[in-house]
Amino acid sequence: MNNAKTISHYEDEEQLFFPDSSFSTRANIQNTQIYDSAWVDYKNYWMGEAQKLHWFKPWDKVLEWHSPFAQWFVNGKLNACYNCLDRHLEGWRRNKAAIIFEGELGDRQVWTYQDLHREVTRFANVLRGMGVNKGDTVTIYLPMIPEAVITMLACARIGAPHSVVFGGFSAGALRDRISDAESRVIITADGCWRRGKAIPLKSNVDEAISQCPTVEKVVVVQRTRVEVKMEPVRDVWYHEIMRKTPAGCQCEIMDAEDVLFILYTSGTTGKPKGIVHTTGGYLTGVASTHRNVFDLKEDDVYWCTADIGWITGHSYVVYGPLANGATILIFEGAPDYPGKDRFWEIIEKYRVSIFYTAPTAIRMFMKWGESWPQGRDLSSLRLLGSVGEPINPEAWHWYHKNIGRGRCPVVDTWWQTETGSIMVAPLPGITPVKPGSCTKPLPGVFVDVVDENGKPVVPGGSGYLVIKRPWPSMLRTVYKDPQRYIDTYWSRFAGMYFTGDGAKKDKHGYIWVRGRVDDIINVSGHRIGSAEVESALVEHPAVAEAAVIGRSHELKGQAVTAFVTLREGVIWATELEDDLKNHVAKRIGGLARPEEIIYAGELPKTRSGKIMRRLLRDIAEGRVMGDISTLADPSVISQLLERKIAI
Ligand code: ATP
Ligand code: MG
Repeated sequence: MNNAKTISHYEDEEQLFFPDSSFSTRANIQNTQIYDSAWVDYKNYWMGEAQKLHWFKPWDKVLEWHSPFAQWFVNGKLNACYNCLDRHLEGWRRNKAAIIFEGELGDRQVWTYQDLHREVTRFANVLRGMGVNKGDTVTIYLPMIPEAVITMLACARIGAPHSVVFGGFSAGALRDRISDAESRVIITADGCWRRGKAIPLKSNVDEAISQCPTVEKVVVVQRTRVEVKMEPVRDVWYHEIMRKTPAGCQCEIMDAEDVLFILYTSGTTGKPKGIVHTTGGYLTGVASTHRNVFDLKEDDVYWCTADIGWITGHSYVVYGPLANGATILIFEGAPDYPGKDRFWEIIEKYRVSIFYTAPTAIRMFMKWGESWPQGRDLSSLRLLGSVGEPINPEAWHWYHKNIGRGRCPVVDTWWQTETGSIMVAPLPGITPVKPGSCTKPLPGVFVDVVDENGKPVVPGGSGYLVIKRPWPSMLRTVYKDPQRYIDTYWSRFAGMYFTGDGAKKDKHGYIWVRGRVDDIINVSGHRIGSAEVESALVEHPAVAEAAVIGRSHELKGQAVTAFVTLREGVIWATELEDDLKNHVAKRIGGLARPEEIIYAGELPKTRSGKIMRRLLRDIAEGRVMGDISTLADPSVISQLLERKIAI
């Protein structure tokens, strides 16, 4: 990538946004030297962050590194659940709201730390009663309800790694994950609410486990009261068994390197990988970044919209915020039910102060139009976050203006299931931001952009995003497949972790993630980032969302092909196609001009809302479709195929 010319229009996005002094003078981190001191001695930096947790026994050594296998806080003993609950019970925080829950139908629950502790210890006893021991993996397949948090923490309490499977996954995807994890106990619900309808869940479990011989017990939370088949002995109701079980359960003393959970990646680039995270380093990473990046204050109402089934849900709904004693908001339903202002209504109602969501959601809000947030009081908000994909400058500005009302810092956070916690993001009190860039690596994190040979690119250059030193919340391995761990992450560049993402580093050292390296398009020897072309297309007032791929082309090597969805009220026409092509050419250059633009009703996305460009490439090149097990809506693909858009 170093020698090829790189085409980018991001250069002109050099508008700097400095934190407001009313924000920065109250920020948790005000001293810019934090970057330098953590650079000089990163182990010491992370040790300081780890000391903010509760340890039953301190570590002997901060880091033991036999590349690529790391051990952090060697021989330290702690428990993640103890850190998220018990330690908050000593003072007044015991009566603080830990969870504010809004159900899809408008029902509400508030759980204090004390309430949560009681329920979690009770469920930990239920699990122990079922013979679940330290090291046994429990599969959780639940909607976004408080029981999802309760059961995760109960697993952590007794040292049973959890494997949370997103509630929107099919029986087949669930079966694969249960088999891989060899779970004996599954936790699910009868169903969940979605746009006013009860969607069954338990029936998926029944189907999945008919092929999973390891499963002995299924615990079923009653949520919708849809009819379910309960298999005698095997299936038990959560509320019934809880009634019979006492609260109060001793924590398992866990080693820092004992497994906390397994989680499968989103499957954007291929078959999902079972990522393994351990206890001490992971908790250190998530608690530290949650406090610093979101500038958490004691009285914040913090809302991360991610589902518990994704890493963002694990790290920034459950473990980070609760380790910090925060009040978290959990919402069960959809953003457009009963109205397209449901999110803004919730923010208004609960006075949410920190809001963390994904670009895919922001682009959807843009598509619906700004009148929806306009009618709501969003004055409680003080910080906004973004995660999951590059946020195109257009969406950033929309978010900043219409949700943040121009007042709130926006933190764009780059990280992965594998990194466990945020790696590149601004510290909102001290780091000026540029819309579209996730800014600089956090203190103690050594992210860089390198060329083909692993040499750092010069300022302004593009290349591969890597991490050069171990970090506490890094994945330890791929479940049951250490070779895949080595091959996928540690083989491309000697001694460095390869993220799979391409990025540009600008003259201020700011990082601009340009998408997956597999998605970078090579037109006649010029490298064009899919993210840049998409960004240019989304700037156009007619376009809601865009996905850009390179398809093979006899002369140019690859040709740019774009798929677009339109904003509400816009009608597709040939003139619009020409207009869009010209717009891209004007914005980025003639080489980036799409060869064809295809109007799509919807784009294929993973269940976590990311665009699956590899499937669009398969369509454009007429190939057999790759792994689609994590595709949100298979009908999107058949619709695209029906239009015979294969070129
Ligand atoms: P798989 O690894 O199975 O293909 P996935 O990479 O989509 O799935 P995740 O771990 O959920 O699974 O996503 C991490 C990826 O999301 C990153 O590698 C990056 O491509 C993208 N990403 C996350 N946050 C950002 C961000 N703020 N800016 C740009 N890209 C981001
Ligand atoms: Mg990935």
